[in-house]
Amino acid sequence: MLSGKKGIVFGIANDHSIAWGIAKKLKENNASLIITYQNESLLRRVQPLSEKVDSEKLIKCDVSIEADLEKCFQEVGNHWDNIDFIVHSLAFSDKEELSGKYLITSKENFINTLNISCYSFTKIAFLASHYMKNGGSLTTLTFHGAKKVMPNYNVMGVAKAALEASVKYLSVDLGSNNIRVNAISASPMRTLSGAVIGNSRDVFNFTKNNSPLKRNVSLEEIGNTAVYLSSDMSKGVTGEIHYVDCGYNVIGMPKT
Ligand code: NAD
Repeated sequence: MLSGKKGIVFGIANDHSIAWGIAKKLKENNASLIITYQNESLLRRVQPLSEKVDSEKLIKCDVSIEADLEKCFQEVGNHWDNIDFIVHSLAFSDKEELSGKYLITSKENFINTLNISCYSFTKIAFLASHYMKNGGSLTTLTFHGAKKVMPNYNVMGVAKAALEASVKYLSVDLGSNNIRVNAISASPMRTLSGAVIGNSRDVFNFTKNNSPLKRNVSLEEIGNTAVYLSSDMSKGVTGEIHYVDCGYNVIGMPKT
């Protein structure tokens, strides 16, 4: 589905990362990939994974550092004449503020969380759009905590709400360039970031037991959705928050 398409995947930390599930499926569908990593301490894990998907480059990019983002796109632009898709699968907030009350959020962590988890997508969309000469697709990852209160999700819920609104605004700004912008809203997954949220095991089990399909999604299922959104199969889809959560979001009150 992606033969001849080139794209960048942001957000692999290890082989549990959603971004890794996505990169594998993109590769299986013949995409050409460039992988980025946040910092040197993650390189040891990300390098062998990037080799498995024949990543054409492995670029350090901490999205909180503007110069890293600019350099990353310069390097990609020197290597490829155009980019067809971007997958943005990253977020960060201080663990201390991902349990207890949202009320206690500090200004510093609020700004940092929104900067890394939301603004970075807008900046990446801006930079990538210059290389999407034939149109393209930008996909980010969100969670139902953007729309409804989930225990301990706190400032990350606020950041995801801003991210989901960004998807809609960007879809309008970039629509005339034939660039589509969408988000995948995933079930709770057992990843590094997922585990940082207070009582994540309870949330994982609750959504599993109470979703229509009685389970949470797999990395492969999220990966396949990212393939669809990055490919011409979704040519008419933009500004969408696409749930891949075994249906959990439709439940008003679970059956007792
Ligand atoms: P993960 O920990 O595997 O991935 C998070 C990634 O964010 C890591 O690769 C990390 O290096 C990157 N990151 C953090 N700060 C960064 C920075 N300053 N610069 C560059 N990269 C940075 O966890 P994951 O669950 O795969 O998370 C991926 C995305 O999926 C996130 O947006 C997350 O909110 C979202 N999501 C996760 C779940 C879940 O339950 N795990 C559910 C829905 C959505």
